[in-house]
Amino acid sequence: MFERNGGYDVLKYADVAEPKAGPNDVVIKVKASACNFNDIWARRGLPGMKIILPHISGSDAAGVVVETGSEVKHVKVGDEVVVHCGISCRECYYCTRGEEYFCSDFKIWGFQTGPFDGAHGEYCKVPAVNTLPKPPNLSFEEAATMPLVLVTVWRMLVSRAHIQAGDFVLVWGAAGGLGVMAIQIAKLYNARAIAVASSADKLELCGRLGAEFLLDRKKHDIFQEVRKITGSRRADIVFEHTGADTWPISMQCLKWGGTLVTCGATSGFDAHLDIRLLWNKQQNYLGSHLGNKGELIEAMRFVASGDIKPVVGKVLPLKELATAQDLMETNTIAGKIAIVPPGA
Ligand code: NDP
Repeated sequence: MFERNGGYDVLKYADVAEPKAGPNDVVIKVKASACNFNDIWARRGLPGMKIILPHISGSDAAGVVVETGSEVKHVKVGDEVVVHCGISCRECYYCTRGEEYFCSDFKIWGFQTGPFDGAHGEYCKVPAVNTLPKPPNLSFEEAATMPLVLVTVWRMLVSRAHIQAGDFVLVWGAAGGLGVMAIQIAKLYNARAIAVASSADKLELCGRLGAEFLLDRKKHDIFQEVRKITGSRRADIVFEHTGADTWPISMQCLKWGGTLVTCGATSGFDAHLDIRLLWNKQQNYLGSHLGNKGELIEAMRFVASGDIKPVVGKVLPLKELATAQDLMETNTIAGKIAIVPPGA
């Protein structure tokens, strides 16, 4: 937990009261949680976003249900579950259209303020409707690393960018949490992933996951390489989340009529767009934010079938959460970091 915003030295390993289920909630004994970049945004503090302190982060968990609220019908004590981290009212105009991310009450569990502490603890509480069965073919550590990145990338590539067979998909941060999902979803759709990462080891992983082209951002001129790979056509889809540093190259790499889809800006929020190019090239610039539970259920079918696999780069005990966040901030780990609480 943290009681003030700052570097990873503000993280404290402390005893807090165990959660109690409200009528529509479940309490989960956490077997594993996963690190996501939003843990870091919350800890650092984001202008315009109110973080209630003290704060327990963590937007992904896998575990066993130990308590259910009086109104809960479809989940039982003993169920092995994962959590969909999009919390919303489920009753408003947007929620009933499956657009929960537009709900005025929408919160990412463990990231934004709200009644629920996050996943990085021994127990957590979530609305029962936010649970899904844990895929039986995955360990708890593997399962914990899936939902947030999977639903985000599914929405970006499938629901928003309408990925097609044969598409060239330029994937930034291809060995990161989102990237390893993007490569596998591109492969699932018979699209051609062009993976960008910053080391030979990471690129080797990208190749194993199905990326057809491997580019080292520290060695290659990404734009020139993309031109060569695509026969000058450039990428049909640019998969963005890296932000200010990569945005100008992403624009260069996008084909006329192509689609850039973004969900983040790790390196900074300011981007420039020449509007003349937008209309002349008839390109699509799309924003995307998390996904709905239906999209997660759809994507999880491919996890259960083994077509999309978790990529766990490291498993650390809860006590070492600060180390985990440091590894993430320094781009050291390929894939995801799973966190295991004591007694899991
Ligand atoms: P990771 O840390 O797992 O991976 C990000 C990767 O980005 C790194 O591995 C690194 O790869 C690459 N990268 C970092 N900085 C740069 C840079 N300046 N230029 C090029 N590449 C860079 O993070 P995630 O994949 O989990 O998340 C990525 C971003 O997406 C975060 O900002 C996160 O907040 C956001 N996000 C948004 C969501 C939403 O719903 N809106 C959901 C999930 C994530 P390498 O060094 O190998 O190139």
